[in-house]
Amino acid sequence: MTSLCEVCGGNEFRFEAVLWDELVEAWGLSQEERKYIDRQQGECCSNCGANLRSIALAGSIRSHLGMSHWLKDEMGHRRWRKLKILELNEAGTLSPLLSQQAGHVLGCYPEVDMQAMDFPDESFDLVVHSDTLEHVPDPVKALSECHRVLRPGGACCFTIPIIIGRLSRRRDGLPPSWHGEPGTSQDDWSVQTEYGADAWCQVLEAGFSKVTLTSVAFPCAVAMAAVR
Ligand SMILES: [Zn+2]
Repeated sequence: MTSLCEVCGGNEFRFEAVLWDELVEAWGLSQEERKYIDRQQGECCSNCGANLRSIALAGSIRSHLGMSHWLKDEMGHRRWRKLKILELNEAGTLSPLLSQQAGHVLGCYPEVDMQAMDFPDESFDLVVHSDTLEHVPDPVKALSECHRVLRPGGACCFTIPIIIGRLSRRRDGLPPSWHGEPGTSQDDWSVQTEYGADAWCQVLEAGFSKVTLTSVAFPCAVAMAAVR
């Protein structure tokens, strides 16, 4: 059971399956794994539309910043007026909320390459990305770039699809696989890493000193806050 939506406080949810057979086969998912990844992407708050992935991410952001109200009530509030946010590719339904903040910057691939960003050192308080890292050829380099642009005490809050019962694997040498809509086959969005239970290791490899996990309806959705 999902409890409350971290974005809006809503308590009603609707579900629509989103995975398709070819992806399930390429990813080697069991029926049980298919079920929880489907919920991660396709179970949504009836009020604001956030899926469990976005809700976990909102929970991670709220927890790191110590927000007492729901994310939609906090974002745009003047108490966060000095907060500098870097959003890398639109973070689903959170994007319109994050962009209310005056110090918000949206950087999208390919203009912004996570592995080599143009932003100065220590220029953001919060870096947010959602289901992007699995598409980046060198995810540790990308996370170390997130670390570089964060101020001390700042956090990179992000999601990746995690299959909790296995270890991460590269798709090097395997047939290409894409997330997103069936039939999508742009090379830029092919999956490079399939994440497992050791996903947090890359955060520490990238130089972060602390990582906290926030889960919604475990194992459906897990978000990480990598703290500099
Ligand atoms: Zn909601």
